Amino acid sequence: MNGSPPESDSGSAKPTAEEGAGNAWLTGHTPAAWSPRPLCVIGLAGGVGSGKSTVGAMFRDLGACVVESDEIGRHVLCTDEVRRTLREWWGDSVFGPDGLPDRARIAGRVFDDPDQRRRLEQLLHPLIGRERRRRMDEARRRPGVTAIVIDAPLLFEAGLDRECDAIVFVEAPESARRRRVATQRGWSEDDWSRREAAQLPVEQKRRRADYVCVNDADLETLRRKVQDIFSQIVSRYRGSESGACPTPAAERETPGDISL
Ligand code: ATP
Repeated sequence: MNGSPPESDSGSAKPTAEEGAGNAWLTGHTPAAWSPRPLCVIGLAGGVGSGKSTVGAMFRDLGACVVESDEIGRHVLCTDEVRRTLREWWGDSVFGPDGLPDRARIAGRVFDDPDQRRRLEQLLHPLIGRERRRRMDEARRRPGVTAIVIDAPLLFEAGLDRECDAIVFVEAPESARRRRVATQRGWSEDDWSRREAAQLPVEQKRRRADYVCVNDADLETLRRKVQDIFSQIVSRYRGSESGACPTPAAERETPGDISL
């Protein structure tokens, strides 16, 4: 285990990458922080609109690097390789006026065509996986990063839970989840239900998690819970001799052991 403790912004300044490069050149050795190092990987799970991204942002404030599947998906869709392939398949019909792939048009194109959907998934999934691994490797090389957080709506469905040392289930009452996405994202009841139906039932996700973070109050209350869970996860991770959390994925069928 060689994860370094979170460093505050105060005190002596850390060298920048460029400064570090200068030192390496002078001294002839590479700073340890440049090598990939084991970092605790935390997965976020929860129902639609439960607050996963909000919790992720709070983990980021604690020094974690958050790897967001939705953002990676958007990034990959705009790469030259994918744009070229989509144009070969479907022409201009799936591009917006800005020349970029339009997610709504693509969704419409594959909506009731399982073959086209499969073809699209076979194109995107490996690229998304590669980009996720690249970002995680980069985080492991970046000094000061305290953990990696995977924010993926389909964490279990995509098998990403196997890459996690700890899984946090963000729990919020269904009424609050519906209300939040309606008021803050303008989603209809239908939008919410469709997305929720495409995912594992929340009870299954909860059962497979190690920590439950109840998001049923204001954001400051949530932040305190996130800080508490984060320090428990990191200290368990550091405390284990093997470098892995004491709750490996294989033993994760028990109910979340900590409910806050
Ligand atoms: P999705 O399932 O779509 O990925 P999510 O689980 O990531 O959603 P968030 O985007 O974090 O959920 O939260 C949904 C909405 O609810 C956001 O607009 C967020 O700002 C708001 N929200 C989350 N928690 C709270 C809270 N405790 N109080 C008020 N608003 C909240």
